[in-house]
Amino acid sequence: MVISIASQKGGTGKTTTSIALAAGLAHKGKKVLLIDIDSQANSSKVLIHHYTNIDKDQTLYSTILLRQPLAIHPSTVANLDIVPSHILLSNTDVELTTAIDHREERLKRELDTVKKNYDYVFIDCPPALSWLTVNAFTVSDKVIIVVYPGYFELDSIKQISKTLVDVRTYFNPTLELMGYLFTLSDPTLNTSTSLQIMRQTYTDQVMKTVIPRNTDIRDAHFNRQDIFSFNPQAKSALAYDKLIHELFFPPEEPV
Ligand code: ADP
Ligand code: MG
Repeated sequence: MVISIASQKGGTGKTTTSIALAAGLAHKGKKVLLIDIDSQANSSKVLIHHYTNIDKDQTLYSTILLRQPLAIHPSTVANLDIVPSHILLSNTDVELTTAIDHREERLKRELDTVKKNYDYVFIDCPPALSWLTVNAFTVSDKVIIVVYPGYFELDSIKQISKTLVDVRTYFNPTLELMGYLFTLSDPTLNTSTSLQIMRQTYTDQVMKTVIPRNTDIRDAHFNRQDIFSFNPQAKSALAYDKLIHELFFPPEEPV
């Protein structure tokens, strides 16, 4: 199953969610691949300790721009492989916009040949509705849209949802919304109002599990660890574990 983690903005918790879901399932013995398509390369930096020594030809750059097979690297977590990103991917949109081949399929063409080796593939998306995001959605079965508390969030959700519908129409008819994940939740009135509006507007498309704001996340990533390796009892680790159960191991319905 290939799942994109997306939002239209930066700082909503996409990278944190990608690392937590990928590492959490890998710790449970699943074979997982994380593809970092954000040129900021934050998940690459957390999960590959020698990241700065990696040449651009050994990153996603080679697949998107040179149409090479995916550059798969082992991560610091057992069972978790990663295709790192590269800062030069920030220029790809211009190149892809003028490309005349199937520019939406460059990731798909290579991922289709290796995805059978994995139980789950996660794609950590950039904070923009770009050709890279379209590449991610074209190869995905499902999309998780990450939302953080805020008055203007509903507008961003509408825009990314439109991209999802466009990709479904033009490139990938079976693409599904897995749901909206509310992150960086804190005990303020603003947050509880945002969540209430989300649940009223999008009802059961909003995931039951809410991820709290928790400083252990920053400390874990600063130490270049996923949250489960850093502190499995952290509030955010418990929440992400609950989310993994909600999404991937739901209790069986009574017959
Ligand atoms: P994005 O990938 O959407 O830009 P990140 O996952 O990088 O977002 O998160 C943005 C910032 O917020 C990072 O500094 C990260 O450490 C922090 N962060 C993310 N999730 C949480 C959380 N649940 N609690 C506290 N800090 C968080
Ligand atoms: Mg990110």
